[in-house]
Amino acid sequence: MKEKNTETKEILDKIKEIRNDNPSKKHSASHVGNETKYRIIYERDLCIGVAACVMSSPKYWEMDDEGKAILKNGREVSPGIFEIEISEEDYAESFEAAKECPVNCIHIINLETGEKII
Ligand code: SF4
Repeated sequence: MKEKNTETKEILDKIKEIRNDNPSKKHSASHVGNETKYRIIYERDLCIGVAACVMSSPKYWEMDDEGKAILKNGREVSPGIFEIEISEEDYAESFEAAKECPVNCIHIINLETGEKII
């Protein structure tokens, strides 16, 4: 439980960091218009391998040999934390994947507003 709290703190710090992002970065995110609007953040250590994300969004999610989800093409920004930017067209299925995850280890940030959607 303590470990999960540490993880949660880490993700909240990350989200805070995104919110306090410097304006030029924010500008570049919104500047790309329809291309990059959201960021998926995945806390792999919390994954329990239910594969609900894969069912909801096979474009971005697959299972690995360890029975954990992989965020396809996601970059590891810190140990066990993966991120990828997505466009509006992939938002609905990505939100579904995050919503269906039973351990809430998938998050979505609106890059234009800094809002943590889920
Ligand atoms: S839905 Fe959540 S717990 Fe299940 S495989 Fe996907 S990331 Fe892991």
